[in-house]
Amino acid sequence: MSELSRRQFLGSTVLGSAALITAAAPAAAAAAEDKKAGAAQKTNTWDVVVVGAGTAGLVCAITAHDLGARVCVIEKCDRPDGNSIYALGTVNAWGTKWQKACGITDSREAFYNDMMKVSAGRADPALTATYTDEIPAAADWLADEIGVKFGKLKMTPWPRLGRGHRVTAEPGMTGGSALIAKLLEAAKKRAIPFFYERKAVALLTGSKGEVTGVKTLNDEEGYRDFYARGGVLIATGGFSANPEMTDRYIGGWAARLALRGSRSTTGENVSLTLPLFAKMVNMDQFHAGPIVSETHVNPADVLNTMQGILVDLRGKRYMDEQNTYVIKAKTTAMNTIENKAYCIVDSKCPVLEKTIAKFDRLHNPYGKADSIEALCKQTGLPLEAVRQSIAAYNKAVDEKTLSQLTPPNSYKKPVKLDTPPYYAVPFEGGMTATFGGPLINTKAEVQTLERKSIKGLYAAGNAAGGLFFRDYIGGSQLGGATVFGRIAAREMVARARKA
Ligand SMILES: Cc1cc2nc3c(=O)[nH]c(=O)nc-3n(C[C@H](O)[C@H](O)[C@H](O)COP(=O)(O)OP(=O)(O)OC[C@H]3O[C@@H](n4cnc5c(N)ncnc54)[C@H](O)[C@@H]3O)c2cc1C
Repeated sequence: MSELSRRQFLGSTVLGSAALITAAAPAAAAAAEDKKAGAAQKTNTWDVVVVGAGTAGLVCAITAHDLGARVCVIEKCDRPDGNSIYALGTVNAWGTKWQKACGITDSREAFYNDMMKVSAGRADPALTATYTDEIPAAADWLADEIGVKFGKLKMTPWPRLGRGHRVTAEPGMTGGSALIAKLLEAAKKRAIPFFYERKAVALLTGSKGEVTGVKTLNDEEGYRDFYARGGVLIATGGFSANPEMTDRYIGGWAARLALRGSRSTTGENVSLTLPLFAKMVNMDQFHAGPIVSETHVNPADVLNTMQGILVDLRGKRYMDEQNTYVIKAKTTAMNTIENKAYCIVDSKCPVLEKTIAKFDRLHNPYGKADSIEALCKQTGLPLEAVRQSIAAYNKAVDEKTLSQLTPPNSYKKPVKLDTPPYYAVPFEGGMTATFGGPLINTKAEVQTLERKSIKGLYAAGNAAGGLFFRDYIGGSQLGGATVFGRIAAREMVARARKA
């Protein structure tokens, strides 16, 4: 499928009514204008050079500009095309005016502890503390300076607290697209030059190993070096869309995960910084979720109900269904040959209406029938194997022997599959975003293997390593991109002033 038709397809299906197109249209127009503005720039020495026009990059560029710096943004696509535009748009924050308005009691300690807990204590404590301390002001800044509107607070799946500040978007548009549109608008108001369709291909260094700029490549115009007095920010996102890297750092099965987000996050956070001996951390860590790759429909709600059984294309159960959708997505990619499975539930499943409506809207096939036989006919699943899987499960529920199944099931409140209609909801394991990359310190400075800062080199957002391990509390990635994008700006501007 060509890139254009992929976008059209995504726009009309994935995110509802033309979300990407809605997001991309102003971005594309801005891209053309900014390209002209960028081309008109005579000098190529800046205070701050930002690589990547996602949340982290745009936040950094705007902050640096407002602190009086000359800043430019280099983006390899013709618009911001990273994971930010796919994001739901939740920002995980505490102590904000929105929390206070809802009468939610929260504390720094609770927030920090939850962030550490979700990472099983493996997140960098100093980075987590910095996130915790800076996020209230960062959320205010998004609203007051950038004009981002946050809707009613959402409960994060865990902990069940109102910390999810969801960016308000027009119908059919993701909150992430709305956030990027607002950031682009703010950048445009400030006349920040953008160099689109220019890919950062190498970092430039001085005689003492400090980063002095970045070498870029445009297909038509060729190479061009950009110099930075204060520093270069790597805000290129992670490596989720680079199968060689996901294979190398996570495993071959991870390279078979469907992409839930961007195709542009191809690991330049690693390839640009590794030659400078940056310390890579948490390279095998990433967030996953269920998805159907053709339509991008997301059946996470059904997988989170802790009802039904998961079967592979041979009709066999392959994992303990008492797991989060993240683990279900990862295990499906790891344990099924095709990375494809069905969640079989019956009419007692509480969220069916919501999920099936999404499948219907996107014309995504699924099974719904009054008998298992008819369900298998619709989906192509092998009848005998599915019958056996369901019978074994139902018997084990009756006899309270779920732990003796192969594989065992550990549902706390098991429900039998016995009330038609039955549903077979298809899904694949999908990759959301990688967590690994060059370790940063609390100033967003990239660290060497010896844990020294590489002068002039900064990273933020999915490009940076250290903040996330195992899983993340919904909204912490956009939150992290905002917090560390702002910090990097302050640090680079201060460094430029001293130069
Ligand atoms: C389906 C989905 C839903 C999500 N929902 C949420 C959510 O609600 N809340 C949350 O916190 N997180 C969410 N996330 C995660 C979140 O989207 C990302 O963590 C975040 O957007 C990362 O932002 P970023 O600025 O680091 O990078 P990105 O937004 O990925 O931007 C990177 C940019 O860098 C550019 N680039 C890459 N390489 C180069 C190069 N060599 N030269 C120049 N430019 C380059 C890319 O083209 C891209 O424009 C979600 C992710 C997905 C996939």
